[in-house]
Amino acid sequence: MAEYIKLIDVSKCTGCRGCQVACKNWNSLPAEQTMFTGSLQNPKDLTYNTWTLIRFDEVVKDGQLHFVMRHDACMHCDWPACVKACPSPGALVKMPEGAVVHNPTYCIGCKACIAACPFDIPRNNPELEKMAKCTLCYDRITEGKQPACVTACPTGCLTFGLKEEMVEKAHKRAEAIGGTVYPNNPKYETHVLYVLPAGIAADDLSHTNANPSMPLSVLLWKNLFKPFTLIGMGAVIGGAFLHYLTKGPHKVHEKKEEGGE
Ligand code: SF4
Ligand code: SF4
Ligand code: SF4
Repeated sequence: MAEYIKLIDVSKCTGCRGCQVACKNWNSLPAEQTMFTGSLQNPKDLTYNTWTLIRFDEVVKDGQLHFVMRHDACMHCDWPACVKACPSPGALVKMPEGAVVHNPTYCIGCKACIAACPFDIPRNNPELEKMAKCTLCYDRITEGKQPACVTACPTGCLTFGLKEEMVEKAHKRAEAIGGTVYPNNPKYETHVLYVLPAGIAADDLSHTNANPSMPLSVLLWKNLFKPFTLIGMGAVIGGAFLHYLTKGPHKVHEKKEEGGE
């Protein structure tokens, strides 16, 4: 199965927010009340109805001011902490193409994925108690289409393609402009890559994680506690089934009101 990567060349972003609008449009996400909070970033943060956001950063380096606009969304991790942390089978699934998709039907609103994500991406819908995030437009890419945000980008900042080709493209572009590829951690690979402009490091920007890793709590949960929990759940279900086979269905005892029939 072919794997894909979304490549974000930050040096080409003009902050037009075409990608932000296209994401809402394709995923039928409602608009939100916007407000001025000191920068052009609007809304202020990702929400369950805003799966991608252009982050505006003003970086002063070597006496020079840099305006950096960056498309921020789920990184579609290779070994996703959110999937490992999730206790509800089917709520978050890593697909062979690289996308990490969520299924609200199975989400129990426990927020374990939110706590585990090293990039602080998933957001909870407090009314539904369900999480939401970018899906890498899984419904589009499996039909041979590009993600909606990529098709809307007028500058070539966003591109999408086969993993090997995009990795090569990212490193060539970084070399050409004297920039860097982010994230660059062979132990925590992602299906979204950035090319950062010359002189700008991931740590200079807001809402980045230059050193992503699987949280220790998730490793313990996944390897130590989760199997026992699932075995326990299986034992309860098995016991209930055995009881049904041997004793038949439970009878519901309704308390009769005094003086009733
Ligand atoms: S960035 Fe966070 S939400 Fe997205 S796949 Fe990685 S761990 Fe999951
Ligand atoms: S890949 Fe699709 S879901 Fe993700 S930010 Fe782009 S348009 Fe939104
Ligand atoms: S559409 Fe492209 S240029 Fe416009 S804000 Fe998004 S990433 Fe930047």
